[in-house]
Amino acid sequence: MDRPADIVCDALVVGGGAAGVAAAVELCRAGLNVELVEQRPALGGAYYRQPAGGATATRPGSRRARQWSRLLDELRGAGVTPRECHVFLGVDTHGLALLDDRKGGRVRTVRTRAVIVAVGAVERVLPRPGWQLEGVVTAGGLQMLIKESGEAPTGSVLIVGNGPLTVALAADLARLGRPAVAVIEAGDPMTRPSAALRMAAFPGLVAEAAADLTRMHAAGTPWLRGSRLTTITREDGRLLASIEDRNGASRQIRADIVALHDGIRPNHFGLPPTTRDGLVVLHAGDCREALGVSSAEADGRAAAREAVALLSGAAAQRHAPEVTRQRRVQAVLASLFRPIRDDGGLAALPDETVLCRCEGRTVGQLRAMLTEPDPVGAREIKLNGRFGMGPCQGRFCADNVQALVSAVRPASQTVPLSRDRWPARPVLISALAAEEEAREE
Ligand SMILES: Cc1cc2nc3c(=O)[nH]c(=O)nc-3n(C[C@H](O)[C@H](O)[C@H](O)COP(=O)(O)OP(=O)(O)OC[C@H]3O[C@@H](n4cnc5c(N)ncnc54)[C@H](O)[C@@H]3O)c2cc1C
Repeated sequence: MDRPADIVCDALVVGGGAAGVAAAVELCRAGLNVELVEQRPALGGAYYRQPAGGATATRPGSRRARQWSRLLDELRGAGVTPRECHVFLGVDTHGLALLDDRKGGRVRTVRTRAVIVAVGAVERVLPRPGWQLEGVVTAGGLQMLIKESGEAPTGSVLIVGNGPLTVALAADLARLGRPAVAVIEAGDPMTRPSAALRMAAFPGLVAEAAADLTRMHAAGTPWLRGSRLTTITREDGRLLASIEDRNGASRQIRADIVALHDGIRPNHFGLPPTTRDGLVVLHAGDCREALGVSSAEADGRAAAREAVALLSGAAAQRHAPEVTRQRRVQAVLASLFRPIRDDGGLAALPDETVLCRCEGRTVGQLRAMLTEPDPVGAREIKLNGRFGMGPCQGRFCADNVQALVSAVRPASQTVPLSRDRWPARPVLISALAAEEEAREE
């Protein structure tokens, strides 16, 4: 398709987090004409999420704040003017991309030679009985809300899951004078001395973790390690979480909000990397490999160098020593926070547990499909079972559905519940029509 576009550039960078901003800076420095688009009203991404509407920052003057202002200075110095409130919808094989301009209320077309996809990671949350109840949120989502509003949510918060982000959230709540009721942690870093020793090679991270732990303890938030949440119910208008410790002893904790978190994972965005027909598509940052913010920045810069080389017809290989370093950090963190007990995973969940939150489909409904005499495939699971058919289109539930399919039918093949197709995000018909009208004028 060859049609005039609203915007013409050498490279389109999608996502205004650490990876996208760093990529845009490097592409500009290499002399390319760059467009940087971000779906939200402000740049920042997940880690550097900015306060909105005059709210105050939760960690002013911190290392995080300094790093972000350095990146923004670089962006300004390179002369990039980002387009905020612009959602990338997709690109055809000839380099014609569509952006949903949410402020302008219309879709815009971009003609480009390269796309760097830097859309960030997806938070991993495992299903638990009762996790569909109102008041159950993700810890990462709650953290974003706090960063944007500068305020703690109304009501008491119980944080449940695995990994360092739960402690970071507890520290943020303590900072705001609203300490969490408790942090329930599946692992127990205190019983992993060799992993703790290996952490000493990363003093910046140790200092940050120590500061968060100190703040959490000072605020009186208990850190219940080696424990897991078995069910959430609602009683007298509040959530009641049943917790089991490493010895199998149970207790119940009441809260208004339960924040769940089981790590973050890459985002296999429905646009695979490619170099074809003169169009270069590369992934960068946490959406490619979820290794944290400094790796994301380094990977963004390396992806930009790779794109520049590919556009000039040269062979290219991604090279970023910081990415290798952060892979080591993540490996150490994984052993430090390794869950104390094997709880049987998804296969051990009771039938009534909701698996697909968008459509309210349960573990039992999937099990029933999988034990039918005629084997069902991905198509039936999706179309008849309605798994992965809601607004998230499998982005959050596909991994869990796949894990349960593999547990019930170990010999079965992968179930690709989400498809590589665009628009990558829902778009209003009126915004599409506005693009046609603008073209006809
Ligand atoms: C929920 C969550 C919480 C986290 N909390 C922490 C933490 O406390 N500490 C820590 O060290 N790390 C944290 N991380 C990891 C950290 O955020 C990342 O390492 C870092 O932000 C990665 O940078 P990035 O640029 O790759 O992605 P991100 O920072 O996630 O940026 C991606 C950007 O792409 C934009 N985007 C997505 N899709 C589109 C589209 N279609 N069109 C336009 N724009 C789009 C998003 O709005 C976002 O701004 C968290 C990650 C998540 C997912």
